[in-house]
Amino acid sequence: MYRKILPLSRTVKVGHNSICRHASSAVCPRICIVGAGPAGFYTAQYILKHLDNSDIDIVEKLPVPFGLVRFGVAPDHPEVKNVINTFTKTAENPRVRFLGNLSLGKDFTLQDLRERYHAVLLTYGAEHDNTLGIPNETLPNVLSAREFVAWYNGLPGFENLNPDLSGKSLTLLGQGNVAVDIARIVLSNVDELKKTDITDYALEALSRSKIETVHLVGRRGPLQAAFTIKELREMLKLSNCITRWRADDFDHVEESIPNLPRPRKRITELMVKSLSEQEQNANAQPGRHFRPIFFRSPVKFVGSDKVEAVEFVVNKLMDGRAIPTEQRETIPTDLVCRSIGYRAISVDDHINFDERKGCVNNSGGRVLKRNLTGSDQTIDDIEDKYEPGLYASGWLATGPTGVILTTMNNSFGVADLLCRDFKANTIRLNGSRPGLDLTGRPYVSWNGWKAIDNEEIRRGEARGKPREKLTSIETMLQIASNASNA
Ligand SMILES: Cc1cc2nc3c(=O)[nH]c(=O)nc-3n(C[C@H](O)[C@H](O)[C@H](O)COP(=O)(O)OP(=O)(O)OC[C@H]3O[C@@H](n4cnc5c(N)ncnc54)[C@H](O)[C@@H]3O)c2cc1C
Repeated sequence: MYRKILPLSRTVKVGHNSICRHASSAVCPRICIVGAGPAGFYTAQYILKHLDNSDIDIVEKLPVPFGLVRFGVAPDHPEVKNVINTFTKTAENPRVRFLGNLSLGKDFTLQDLRERYHAVLLTYGAEHDNTLGIPNETLPNVLSAREFVAWYNGLPGFENLNPDLSGKSLTLLGQGNVAVDIARIVLSNVDELKKTDITDYALEALSRSKIETVHLVGRRGPLQAAFTIKELREMLKLSNCITRWRADDFDHVEESIPNLPRPRKRITELMVKSLSEQEQNANAQPGRHFRPIFFRSPVKFVGSDKVEAVEFVVNKLMDGRAIPTEQRETIPTDLVCRSIGYRAISVDDHINFDERKGCVNNSGGRVLKRNLTGSDQTIDDIEDKYEPGLYASGWLATGPTGVILTTMNNSFGVADLLCRDFKANTIRLNGSRPGLDLTGRPYVSWNGWKAIDNEEIRRGEARGKPREKLTSIETMLQIASNASNA
């Protein structure tokens, strides 16, 4: 059993009649943000700046903050994680409390939050997988990109995934940056990764990996490739790794370059240049290979005890869409990762959720009433249309697309609406709200997280890394608890 983690000195206990966390006798807006990823922190940052005297609780399922910045962003992209410094400043504002290890849908309901706060912002992200729905998808060695990324990044619950790296080839289905992250991690020289915050067990497994070839398969052509130029450049520069394009995929590509918009033009030029260099160096040394393959959609996984190949239908393009032909191709492989997107789920029956799109039904971040969807534009009265005081932002609201900057812009926009709704009295400050009842709940405060952070950095130093992530929730809670009781 975990010891109860006591609230910290900074965190004022709020009883029913309490008012603000700061000196004022007025009723203060009390806001709960669910999810401590970028969307949660950016909305909090904006509200702090634009809504005077507001108090914010950021409630997070895990004992540790930062969502996909910690558990998604690739370990060899530390510069992306600098946003953590800004998030830390927000969390350390006296008007904010971080409440880790508390989960919406498990420890409390949406109804609880609606009663205990003036406004609730759902920012709990998209933590599930899309599936292909094709035969043999459950064969051993068919994984999702989400699982693979969670494994190397130390998300609790994935430390024992043990992806089988004993075969020669990995096939990534999907050509987005997440798939390219995985290709780069698998094909990188392990010495390069040693200096990152990749988990030790992943480093160990990668150092024994026999994977020589990574296929990156997409259903459309080079002109529609989803990866971005920075990620492609990194692949082309990877030491001991040769990129091999299929020349047939590039029919008529070069002649279309002059008419392309600028970003697409630059990445296409880079692919075409790399293809021509490959033709000049046809006899280059064999080593590890990165093989992008276009115009293929998986239709079946082949194998009995584990995956042995993927059968693809060959596509042609019509008006930018992939249309299947009669032609098939089977590519042998030892391991597969589907990288076809993350998916949000509803964690509470009272959330107006669009199962098809996999996001909360909202308009600009205001959550729509339960009988309404995003396409209902006929109702004018705000109170008839929206759940007053209920908002969503980030991947839960927009669907799982876009980078941290996209999430920031979306979250600032939603937070702005919230502030305006408070100022316009659409959210009424009719009495103070008590906030979550934390009695008997082993929650992790910000100081608890700082203790976990320090311990991770200490363990990392011993290995010459920025940190060694803890993956046991029990250990995290113990460390946080010791810090609170000290
Ligand atoms: C593999 C991968 C790599 C990426 N790399 C980059 C990159 O290099 N650069 C870049 O700009 N963007 C990158 N992104 C995109 C970026 O991570 C997202 O834009 C951003 O994290 C979305 O923020 P979010 O807050 O909506 O969701 P998340 O980051 O997922 O945060 C959601 C938070 O909610 C918590 N939560 C979940 N359920 C509950 C619950 N029931 N109760 C309470 N809390 C809950 C989660 O634990 C999590 O902390 C990457 C994404 C992925 C998947």
